[in-house]
Amino acid sequence: MNPKGTPPSLVAKQSEATALNKMPVTALKGVGPRNADKLAKIGIKTVQDILFHLPFRYQDRTRVVPIGSLRPGDSVVVEGEVELADIRFGRRRSLLVKLADGTGSLVLRFFHFSNAQKSALVRGSRLRCYGDVRNGPNSYEMVHPEYQRIDDMDEGAMETSLTPVYPSTDGMHQLSWRGMASRAMALLDAQPDSLPEWLPEELLTRFRLPDLVAAVTYLHRPPPDAPTESLQAGMHPAQQRLAFEELMAHQLSLRETRQRQKRLSATVLASTGKLTKPFLAQLAFRLTAAQQRVLSEIAVDLAQEHPMLRLVQGDVGSGKTVVAALAALQAIEASYQVALMAPTELLAEQHLRVLCHWFDPLGIDVLWLTGRHKGRVREQLLERLAEGHSPLVVGTHALFQDDVLFDKLGLVIIDEQHRFGVHQRMALRNKGGGERVPHQLIMTATPIPRTLAMTAYADLDLSIIDELPPGRTPVATVVIPDSRRADVVERVRKACLDGRQAYWVCTLIDESEVLQCQAAEETSKTLQEALPGLRIGLVHGRLKAAEKEAVMATFKQGDLDLLVATTVIEVGVDVPKASLMIIENPERLGLAQLHQLRGRVGRGAVESHCVLMYHPPLSQNAQQRLGVMRETSDGFVIAQKDLELRGPGEVLGTRQTGEMQFRIADLLRDQSLLDEVQVAAQLLLDQYPERVGPLVRRWIGDRQHYINA
Ligand code: ADP
Ligand code: MG
Repeated sequence: MNPKGTPPSLVAKQSEATALNKMPVTALKGVGPRNADKLAKIGIKTVQDILFHLPFRYQDRTRVVPIGSLRPGDSVVVEGEVELADIRFGRRRSLLVKLADGTGSLVLRFFHFSNAQKSALVRGSRLRCYGDVRNGPNSYEMVHPEYQRIDDMDEGAMETSLTPVYPSTDGMHQLSWRGMASRAMALLDAQPDSLPEWLPEELLTRFRLPDLVAAVTYLHRPPPDAPTESLQAGMHPAQQRLAFEELMAHQLSLRETRQRQKRLSATVLASTGKLTKPFLAQLAFRLTAAQQRVLSEIAVDLAQEHPMLRLVQGDVGSGKTVVAALAALQAIEASYQVALMAPTELLAEQHLRVLCHWFDPLGIDVLWLTGRHKGRVREQLLERLAEGHSPLVVGTHALFQDDVLFDKLGLVIIDEQHRFGVHQRMALRNKGGGERVPHQLIMTATPIPRTLAMTAYADLDLSIIDELPPGRTPVATVVIPDSRRADVVERVRKACLDGRQAYWVCTLIDESEVLQCQAAEETSKTLQEALPGLRIGLVHGRLKAAEKEAVMATFKQGDLDLLVATTVIEVGVDVPKASLMIIENPERLGLAQLHQLRGRVGRGAVESHCVLMYHPPLSQNAQQRLGVMRETSDGFVIAQKDLELRGPGEVLGTRQTGEMQFRIADLLRDQSLLDEVQVAAQLLLDQYPERVGPLVRRWIGDRQHYINA
């Protein structure tokens, strides 16, 4: 990535001929094209890749364990003499061999065996076996152990290190993995600098990390007394050292991306106050201190001649929309255009409504573009954008399309970024016309634990709105089984008769939209029968935009008491008077989604309630999730729990896109490393810039998203 700064001395150190990152796997004896293909499928191409393909557990074949001391679950080597060998014809024909060593005896059980095997396993022969100990009908057993006749063996043939077990792929035997690893290790033994150390001595000392070759050697050949538990957990210093280096490489790669972004030029959008001042004067509320702080961070960014790339994290209801509006006004003041994009049509429509309401008095025209605009209408819209007649366009993914061009695009605002991948984000960048790229503001209501955010979004600057507008009362949440449905319906009736409004959210484990919508339709029918006096509306993803809009608008005006909905209302919808939410089958949803949904209530001053009505029995994980929802409404706490329960891929929403995938590191397990990784990455950038390129290439190679981002 950054080869320009690499001084010749370091490059020379890694001589081309022996560098293990250049040597194809086929250089190892026994690896032919067929195996090379299989390996390539799991991303293993070079000898270095083999060395970084770490065992996930180890077997102890270094010592013989007395049979008398065995425990079920042990995986061990035993030696003994055959006392009895017998074929049983039970439910399954099996060969049972009783092995004794003077301290005790155990049974070896074979369901498949050849005649030759049977005749070799006769009384009096001596065997060495390796297998898993389990409880049998009369004694401990090993089923299909590996075994050898001892008389066949050389003296001292025990292993001298623990035996690694490698994660495998289709049709690759453990013996092949061990063979490849030991040949790769032999190359490394012969020439330790074929795997160069990119972490400087000072860093190794400071963070107490073993050096690279020592770590790799340890993991492929752990000594007999190695702490297998910490190895199994991935917490051994040798593993942590590799995870540390990998995390550093990702961090550096993202920081480079950011630096590259910062070298591009953008338009200076300095605030004149011409629009922002009257806007603030007409606004019905005062900004919170957190909103003001984030806004001033944005204002400073926009006034730079390099593009802003800022992520605003703020919990549901923290007031991100007004922040976006003010950022937009600053760009419009400078006579530039703004594009605001939302992940769903419903949400885009809501932004449109709010912004029209706010911007009309200022004489600012807001344009609206979604996938539904077709033909002549669409052409006209595109023309207005391209000619620069519209200062602000609000829309969905439709804004990404190639034919959408702007005259002077100065700022792109993306709401609920976790729904968009890096690629999509970048697609908007080139729409500005000219060499300048637009500033980017990304907003997310999915709080992410701080260390994780700094790791995953190191290519962005981070602003956090960590304060809710005043006067909000937290939502009181109860968790009850659906056997009490009648009580819940009664509760809805009472609340609505009291003049409050409620949501009833239907979920289905099946992602199919058709089924979700059917469920919502049915629920709304039964509820209407049970609650004849109430005005009940229905929204789901299959309604036309206009229909959805109409229902939502009616609900918002207070002309509906109860809104039955699918999870389409998850994101962003704002109806301050709604103060009761029922979520059916909440056990089917993740914490982040539940938190988003619940965020639809508790937006006004009245106390709000959320009823999580589950269908028993609950899995343990579901119990935990619902418990978290009952106990806290703090988005960051919930995010941390979500991380623990679902893992970082889900929390970051990047599992599908393959961003943030690690070979060795695990963002959950290695959280405690993340702070030090930041420091180490900065140190390397500042003091050893020539090592950054090789380190990033080692772990990330030419993976595309980092190059394009
Ligand atoms: P989110 O961050 O979830 O997008 P919104 O921007 O939709 O939140 O704001 C939620 C509600 O709070 C809106 O009705 C908005 O007008 C209101 N709001 C935002 N900021 C403030 C504030 N500083 N004081 C009072 N109400 C506010
Ligand atoms: Mg919002």
